[in-house]
Amino acid sequence: MKHLEDYREIVGDNVITEIYRKARKLYGRHIVHINSTFMGGGVAEMLLSIAPLMNYIGLNADWVTFHGNQDFFTLTKKIHNALQGDRIHWTKNKVNLYLNTNRNFSIYTHLGENYDLVIIHDPQPLPLIRFYKKVQPWVWRCHVDLSHPNETVWNFLKNFILRYDLVIVSNEKYKNDIPIKYKIIHPAIDPLSLKNMELDNETIRKYTKKFRIPTDKPLITQISRFDKWKDPEGVIEVFKIVKEKVDARLVLCGSMATDDPEGYRILERVKRKAKRLIDKGDVILLTYENNVLVNVLQRISSVIIQKSLKEGFGLTVTEALWKGKPVVASRVGGITLQIEDGVNGFLVDPMDYEGTAQRIIEILKNPELAEELGRKGKETVRKKFLITRLLSDYLDVFNELLG
Ligand code: UDP
Repeated sequence: MKHLEDYREIVGDNVITEIYRKARKLYGRHIVHINSTFMGGGVAEMLLSIAPLMNYIGLNADWVTFHGNQDFFTLTKKIHNALQGDRIHWTKNKVNLYLNTNRNFSIYTHLGENYDLVIIHDPQPLPLIRFYKKVQPWVWRCHVDLSHPNETVWNFLKNFILRYDLVIVSNEKYKNDIPIKYKIIHPAIDPLSLKNMELDNETIRKYTKKFRIPTDKPLITQISRFDKWKDPEGVIEVFKIVKEKVDARLVLCGSMATDDPEGYRILERVKRKAKRLIDKGDVILLTYENNVLVNVLQRISSVIIQKSLKEGFGLTVTEALWKGKPVVASRVGGITLQIEDGVNGFLVDPMDYEGTAQRIIEILKNPELAEELGRKGKETVRKKFLITRLLSDYLDVFNELLG
């Protein structure tokens, strides 16, 4: 287990002292985080680091993973997509499946009596609040881009959201029309996790060999679930343009999250689209769930791309910036909180394949530019997007609600 003091060298002593100060009135308080997957995606990633740290500084923090079957997760993925603006065919059956799964979960978990504070992550377990006697503050921590939600779904979800004491979103623009208390908290990465820690050359060599990743040509990499919002097919198009000017390889790495059943279908489409390049070895698709592999890929790549069409925050961008890599990413959602165009990375219009390819080529041809962008990117993350800042923000919320 990591100690908070292990972060001293990275964030400095003041940050550590401030966290201990904020924790003082919270010793022994029981907090529970509930989300819907233990692996894959940014939420699981953050809980894996933040829950142990909360315990280390004197709280009792649990992390409970919500249960649902394949149909449930297919539905909640549709709800997730609708919250990001998609259409949805909203039926009585869908409502029943959503509510019954939440009701069933409440039958074998006793949140009511056991906790001083409940934090619900994302829409899957949102309705749980209806199935307990509410005897403590509940927080809905929504990681999704809520700027233009589908109205039918949003209106339905309000039936639950209104009961919450606080809604936390990742971006000022995701505040909505609900007359409820909002707080903006930006996500963060753990610089000491397997995914972000420093790696020696030997480990990097071992991984590139094991996962058969040739390093004879520059690598352009996108690390993201196979999801339409991450636009892996668009990445292939961009790569084809780059390839006309610079010989390079593209790596698409996307593990399969248990709460995202769409992934396999999209992966198949990518395979069809890039077949010729895959056969030649110039496009490499990886679907392993392996944090060190992600770390290695981010370190050995010449450019990291994040061609999302929508992006709640985009932890993959943060991770790449932290490794001092030049990032070319879409000017959407939370990515704009992290990248200042031309300063610590490049922002591009996600529909502008040509412009995106040009930025990648520019970086590949200019190592000094690559280094300068990367250096500034790392500083941005050190100042704003590390797990210690996230912990500190959560402690503010707890003090406010429990103080
Ligand atoms: N991730 C991973 N393996 C993969 C693809 C993604 O570990 O093959 C991780 C990635 O490193 C990041 C998280 O999943 O930590 C994705 O978070 P992000 O905010 O970028 O997107 P989300 O998946 O939550 O929409």
